[in-house]
Amino acid sequence: MKQIQSISYPIYFDSIATHLNQFIADGKYSRFFILTDEHTSKHCLEYITSKVDPDKYDLLEISAGEESKTIDFCIGIWKMLIDFDADRNSLLINLGGGVVTDLGGFAASTYKRGIDFIHIPTTLLSQVDASIGGKTGIDIDNLKNIIGTFTQPKAVFIEHTFLQTLPARQIKSGLAEMLKHGLIADVAYWEKLKVSNLELPSTELVYESILIKNKVVMADPTERGLRKILNFGHTIGHALESYSLDNDKNPLTHGEAIAAGMICEAWLSHQKAGLSAEALQEITDTFLSIYGKYDVKESCHPMLRGIMKKDKKNQGGKINCSLLTKIGETQIDNICTDDELCDSLKYYASLAYEPA
Ligand code: NAD
Repeated sequence: MKQIQSISYPIYFDSIATHLNQFIADGKYSRFFILTDEHTSKHCLEYITSKVDPDKYDLLEISAGEESKTIDFCIGIWKMLIDFDADRNSLLINLGGGVVTDLGGFAASTYKRGIDFIHIPTTLLSQVDASIGGKTGIDIDNLKNIIGTFTQPKAVFIEHTFLQTLPARQIKSGLAEMLKHGLIADVAYWEKLKVSNLELPSTELVYESILIKNKVVMADPTERGLRKILNFGHTIGHALESYSLDNDKNPLTHGEAIAAGMICEAWLSHQKAGLSAEALQEITDTFLSIYGKYDVKESCHPMLRGIMKKDKKNQGGKINCSLLTKIGETQIDNICTDDELCDSLKYYASLAYEPA
C-alpha cells in the first residue's frame, strides 16, 4: 500500500477497499457520519458504503458548490450531528471536493470542541490540495475562507477512481493547483506536467503533487513562513473567485480563478522578484492555452482591490503576495501596492487570446 506521512496523519493511496474498515475499527468510534454533497452522493458514496458496516453510520448531505461553504450550511451539519446524537467519540468522513472537506473539517473541528474527521477527497483539486495540510474553513459574503481553523484530519484516503466521474472542467480546476506546485517548488515537475495527459493526470502525477504540498505543510503547518509559497496566484485569484461568485451566472471554478491569478502574479514576479521575461511568457502561454481568458473589465478593478484588502494573508493593511523568483522558486511576503496590482490586471486584460 502506498502511503505518505503528513503532519500527524497518514495519506493512503488507493487503499479504501483494504484499509478504511480497519482504520474505523482501530479508532473505536461510537458512530461515524459520512458527509457528501449531491454529486458525491450519486457518484462516490456507494463505493464507501459497500465496504463499511451499514449499522454504524448515518448520512449527511449538502448541496454542491461554493455557495454551501457558509455558516448556514455549517449550522445545518452541526444540527444534523445533534439530531443523530453524535457524541465526542464520533468520526466524520468528508466525502467530496474542497467544499465538503473545508466545510466538514470546520464543522467537525468545532462540534463539541472537536471530533475526529477524515477526508476522502473526490475532486482532483481536493486530492492534490484542499485535503492536505489541515486548513478548514467557510466563506462569509463570498470572502473566501475568512473563518476557519488549522485542524489536521486523522487520515486522508486518495482514490484515483473517483476522478473517472469528475467533469472535465473540474479536472482542469485541480490541474491549476498541480501546475502551481511545479511553479513554486519543482521545475522538473512543472516541465513534466505541461506535456502530460492533462485530460486525466495519472496516479503518479497526483502522487507527486501531493508530495510537494505535503513537504511544504510539514515544514510549516500553520503558515508562519514557508507555507506561504502555496499562496502564489491566490491573492488575485481569490479576489477574482469572490468577484465571479457574486457577479457571474456560471462562476469561475477555484482553479480557473487561480490560473488567472497566477498569470497576474507572474507579471508581478517579473516586475518585483526577478522572474525572467521568458518565464513570464511561458507561464502566461501555458495557462491561457488551458484556461482561456476571463473578462476582467477595468471598471471592476476597484472592487477587486477592495476584496484583496480583506484578504486574510494581509498584514498591517498591506497586500502581501508570494512571488516567483524563477520557475521552481518562490519569495514570500512581497508587499504589492494598489497600482502594481492594477497593472498586473491590466497586463492580463491586454493578452491576446483567440478561443480554439
Ligand atoms: P467542489 O467541492 O465544489 O467540487 C466541484 C464539483 O465537483 C462539485 O459540483 C462537486 O459536487 C463535484 N464532484 C466532486 N467529486 C465528484 C466526482 N468524483 N464526480 C463527479 N462530481 C464530483 O470544488 P473543489 O474544486 O473540489 O474545491 C474548491 C474548494 O476548495 C474551494 O472552496 C477552495 O477554497 C477550497 N480549497 C481549500 C484548500 C485548503 O487547503 N483547505 C486548498 C485549495 C482549495
